[in-house]
Amino acid sequence: MIVLKGIAASEGIAVGKAFFINKKHVKVNKIRISDDKIAFEIRKFKDAIKKAEEYIKHIKDISLQDLGEEHSFIFDVYLLLLKDDMLIGETERVIKNEKVNAEYALLKVSKKLIEIFEKTEDPYIKEKKNDVKHIVNKIIKFMTNDGFIFKETFGESRIAIAHDLSPSELVSLLKQNIVAFATDLGSKISHTSIIARAMGIPAVVGLEKITDNIISEEEMVIIDGFKGVVIISPNSEVLNDYLEKEKKYKEYINELQKLKNLDVKTKDGEIINIFSNVEINEEIEISNDYNAQGIGLYRTEFIYLEKGDVSEDEQFLILKDAVLKNKGKPITIRTFDLGGEKLANLLPHPDEQNPAMGLRAIRYSLRFKDMFKTQIKAILRAAVFGDVRIMFPMVSGVEEIRQAKSIVKECEEDLKREKKEFRSNIPLGVMVELPSLALITHLINKEVDFFSVGTNDLIQYTIGIDRNNEYVAYLYRPTHPAVLTLLRKILKDAQKAGIEVTVCGEMAGDPKYIPVLLGLGYRNLSMSPSAILKAKMMISKIEIEKCEKLITSLKRCKLARNAEEKLDKFVNKYASDVFFH
Ligand code: PEP
Ligand code: MG
Repeated sequence: MIVLKGIAASEGIAVGKAFFINKKHVKVNKIRISDDKIAFEIRKFKDAIKKAEEYIKHIKDISLQDLGEEHSFIFDVYLLLLKDDMLIGETERVIKNEKVNAEYALLKVSKKLIEIFEKTEDPYIKEKKNDVKHIVNKIIKFMTNDGFIFKETFGESRIAIAHDLSPSELVSLLKQNIVAFATDLGSKISHTSIIARAMGIPAVVGLEKITDNIISEEEMVIIDGFKGVVIISPNSEVLNDYLEKEKKYKEYINELQKLKNLDVKTKDGEIINIFSNVEINEEIEISNDYNAQGIGLYRTEFIYLEKGDVSEDEQFLILKDAVLKNKGKPITIRTFDLGGEKLANLLPHPDEQNPAMGLRAIRYSLRFKDMFKTQIKAILRAAVFGDVRIMFPMVSGVEEIRQAKSIVKECEEDLKREKKEFRSNIPLGVMVELPSLALITHLINKEVDFFSVGTNDLIQYTIGIDRNNEYVAYLYRPTHPAVLTLLRKILKDAQKAGIEVTVCGEMAGDPKYIPVLLGLGYRNLSMSPSAILKAKMMISKIEIEKCEKLITSLKRCKLARNAEEKLDKFVNKYASDVFFH
């Protein structure tokens, strides 16, 4: 029995035989070729170089615009390597003289080159070996078919084991009775993990060597997506224990699934509106499947994190697709929240001592106005296809709201001049996620059409703790009296002005905190699609009056710890079965 610990990317329990997808490295074998195959191998090699060259030039162009000559210099190095006789010319000679396949010839030549670099004293030249490795990998990828071949649908449930898995590979695998997956690579915020969570597929990623540890597809594998643990060839005791857990988990999921088409109402009949937070368009289909009332938060920065800078047309197509997938329901598109911990490769980011307080979100947008305008124009064009709203992140005061609004006006003028179809006067709102803004919601409630409360950042900046720092995680308390006071004020000021207010931070999707938000008076919650069914179950078990009483008693707690204990008691009393134990 082997137990591996990785990152718990998507919760759930699954037990089954492995389906092994070996993608660790593109495996290069030495293949002897006959004289008549030499021309073919050389053509294949040259085609791959051409593709690599086009790819690098494209990346270089994008980075030149934003990073300037200094940083795009690395791409010139790659381009030079693609013309280098010691690498490219020599590979062709090896193919011809040794009569071997192009991949092997390239690898052989590059190894020699790397050895030479390694022997030098000059650290700068030594570093060059990484450039060679990078470019060689790129060419080999263009020469080999990197995709794996899917088998026919399995009769029984299987667990996919892979070095890495792309979102589209995952979606195809799910059609073939794959019920969970484990990968060497991956992070909690990768697209594949997001889709796994949205679809309720148990997953553990970042295991580093799972593909080395699975030997045959006959091996039994346990995925514990709660603990981030994978067990290979479990002993009978562990296996039976997990089979029992898996059974209970399936029953729990079946109960949740029954709520899919039900209205979202509290036990005493109050209607609650549930929206989805999404990062990628695929999640919108899942959101529809769970009957969400629309998209409360579309995080556009993921487009930039994946692609670097994007043109207006490219972004327009992505957003149009999102709007169409959302089938006429409201969709709140948040302008890019870049900076902080969300740094896009190939986009300019200064070195900052304290990025969370630095050039982030709306501040970044106002600094790089052209990029901001490109996005706004794409959104205004996509808005023709549905009920689109624009939302600005990390706004700290009235000036930023006015600047952002005037940029939207400018974009409308530009589009008019360019004779492009767009929608004007679409609702504009702000994320209330900085204490400075929360404290002046009475001053901004007439400046915008809606508020969306970003509790993740609001809690971080109010209590002064890094939301990803494990050392101060114990201070991250949504029931802190300061947070509750701000939440109440935001709601009151929205109601006074008659504008909509939604909560879109994690707090809205965490069943434990839903009674708090309902007790405070919030009725619009936006959350990851994966949270919707549990949220519905929680809502169906509680009464507004009891939630309001809970708030009265939480308000009396001077210690955040006591407030948490009271909340735990409340949740256990009315809704303990919402959670999987
Ligand atoms: C938030 O801060 O609560 C929020 C929803 O925004 P993000 O998590 O993307 O920062
Ligand atoms: Mg935020």
